[in-house]
Amino acid sequence: MPVALITGISGQDGSYLAESLLADGYDVHGIVRDDTEENLAALGRPGRLTLHTVDLQAPDALEEVVALTSPDELYSLAAISSVAASWKDPVQTGAVNGQVVVRLLEAALRVEQQAGHPVRLVHASSAEIFGQAGETPQVETTAIRPSSPYGASKAYAHLSVGVYRGRGLHASNTILYNHESPRRPETFVTRKITASVARISAGLQQGIELGNLDARRDWGWAPDYVAAMRLAARAPEAGDFIVATGVSHTIADFLDAAFARVGIDDWSGLVTVNPEFVRPVDPAEQLGDASKARRELGWQPTVDFETLVARMVDHDLELIAR
Ligand code: NDP
Repeated sequence: MPVALITGISGQDGSYLAESLLADGYDVHGIVRDDTEENLAALGRPGRLTLHTVDLQAPDALEEVVALTSPDELYSLAAISSVAASWKDPVQTGAVNGQVVVRLLEAALRVEQQAGHPVRLVHASSAEIFGQAGETPQVETTAIRPSSPYGASKAYAHLSVGVYRGRGLHASNTILYNHESPRRPETFVTRKITASVARISAGLQQGIELGNLDARRDWGWAPDYVAAMRLAARAPEAGDFIVATGVSHTIADFLDAAFARVGIDDWSGLVTVNPEFVRPVDPAEQLGDASKARRELGWQPTVDFETLVARMVDHDLELIAR
């Protein structure tokens, strides 16, 4: 039975990844801060899931779990995952998103040498490493030029994955562009919109306050991105792989699709722009070219933008109906 270890198992991606691995017969181990998370409840605790309550920053604790579980596949997903949160605590962001990943790489290499079996590590890198990208769309060789503490922390981890690949570890970066699902919290704009639209349509909310409506993002469906991580783990050659749809939409497009789902065509009176939420827009559009992942991993997105938005709105409508 193959063994997988996931940091960040309680998050959006970690929970989908655990479901997918469990369905394929893996023994899945996950590292959590506590085990009360909503996304974990969705897993229903099937037999082959073991949770380890560990402080990732405590000396040796992470290394001990890696040694104990001796995983065939190791997924590095734990992170302070929003740019906004990284500005509030840049030091902690560097520690969790950067240093913890380096410790994980070091632990993986040690287990591989001691246990004598390969440990295939996949790190959740981010489009934010490109920050003020010099080109659109971005490819794996686009210059790394982060413009936030989040991007810088991910860049450190991303580059470290390359360093350990050079030392012989099968270590890959999936360079993830934005991906969404009903498991996104409302601190992210997509879920804020779908939850608000559902409440507005049910008469429970008057309107939505947002930042720049013309900001563009390349949005995909989270389970598709988790599938790419698994393909990267099994690929003959480790590497860096952009995971993106290659199609971008504006926040206004997202609003169009979400309101259309509840039968509202004109949302202009329901949305106000609050200058407090307006973020500086990077000069280059965040748009990924996933040709390498398609070619070398056989990966492709399966859910289009309209379907993604519809699924999120439908989920939020169901939550209200419960
Ligand atoms: P989530 O925010 O949903 O999940 C983050 C996970 O990290 C949670 O399990 C969280 O645990 C854990 N975590 C956060 N801080 C700490 C900490 N100090 N100690 C231990 N665990 C911690 O993120 P996603 O699932 O959306 O993303 C998964 C990965 O992919 C992340 O690394 C993210 O940066 C990266 N990524 C995601 C993108 C996206 O669009 N979703 C785009 C690009 C990259 P807890 O539940 O206890 O808070």
